[in-house]
Amino acid sequence: MSNLPFDRTPFNFPHMTGKELLYIAEAHFNGKLAGDGPFTKRCHEWLEAHSGCARALLTHSCTAALEMTALLLDIEQGDEVIMPSYTFVSTANAFVLRGAVPVFVDIREDTLNLDEEKIEDAITPRTKAIVAVHYAGVACNMDRLMSIARKHGLKVVEDAAQGMMASYRGKPLGSIGDLGTLSFHETKNVISGEGGALIVNDKNLAQRAEIIREKGTDRGRFFRGEVDKYTWQDIGSSFLPGELIAAFLWAQLEDAQRITDQRIASWQRYHQLLEPLEAAGLLRRPIVPSDCIHNGHLYYVLLPSAHQREALLKDFKMQSISAVFHYVPLHSSPAGVRYGRTHGSLDITDLQSERLVRLPLFVGLTEDQQCQVVSRLAMSAKTA
Ligand SMILES: *Cc1c(COP(=O)(O)O)cnc(C)c1O
Repeated sequence: MSNLPFDRTPFNFPHMTGKELLYIAEAHFNGKLAGDGPFTKRCHEWLEAHSGCARALLTHSCTAALEMTALLLDIEQGDEVIMPSYTFVSTANAFVLRGAVPVFVDIREDTLNLDEEKIEDAITPRTKAIVAVHYAGVACNMDRLMSIARKHGLKVVEDAAQGMMASYRGKPLGSIGDLGTLSFHETKNVISGEGGALIVNDKNLAQRAEIIREKGTDRGRFFRGEVDKYTWQDIGSSFLPGELIAAFLWAQLEDAQRITDQRIASWQRYHQLLEPLEAAGLLRRPIVPSDCIHNGHLYYVLLPSAHQREALLKDFKMQSISAVFHYVPLHSSPAGVRYGRTHGSLDITDLQSERLVRLPLFVGLTEDQQCQVVSRLAMSAKTA
């Protein structure tokens, strides 16, 4: 970790396994740089084996994979899609681009995930889908969510951007709904700079997913020798990454378990170090339900007030510790007001989002750095 500035704790530091450039050189040597070459194929096979899905397809981002889900589910003007407001903009944008209305429902106090008990009341005749965002790699209550969706004939998209290598009742996140999306953005656990994947669990959607991803053509089938020429079949766009990105990603997938284990170890150290502060009523630590195995994607604390968060972030800044808050809820952002609709009160979303602080967490974070973060946190919390 010699390239880590030792007097400073960054929020994130992209971790390389050491084989990325080797595989990129191999892709270069193969002379195959466009998408869907040998490295993409390896990544697809890995993701399919890991998730047990019908089809995994690399995309250039999780945003792109979400846009594909909106196309695949035939989302149209005026359709409604239920989702949390406490999420990244792409969750909503993908559906707004098709003319749909994101319907924001409140989150649970414990996991900050969509409150499954508030979903049913938000369903109207225009509702087409529910998007389950697994915040911090901790799963939504998928059993309940899926049964509500099935009862009302709705599709389920899992935004598992943060959920790589995490699971719910033994099932990898992204593999439970009709469709799932992953992110390999450099701020996530397994990375390729920019990158993502679409996980197709409903096998009836697999072939169309391939077509939409390849500009609306059946090029995939052509290369497998299933058709003798490829033609324009459907609407679509170019959603696939080039081989250099896939080669980089392959190095990361090979090491995905080790990366996850190291992040979980850092997560657990924070959790232990912060226990006395929680016991003293100075903050709340993350809550992970017993049927969820998380992936150490992020560690956050909830402070008693927005005011205390402000004081802490200021103090961290003076110490060159870079901690950050997270989403400005979509329902209170300009585009969220313009394109979305809220259902019921979003009190928990407002309350939790304004007092949450994410602590530095990356592969290579040292015990010393973690102790320093926690001791500053303790000092700030006690003087507040
Ligand atoms: C990171 C993230 C995305 C977007 O991922 P990209 O790969 O950057 O497009 C979408 N949803 C959630 C919940 C995320 O955390």
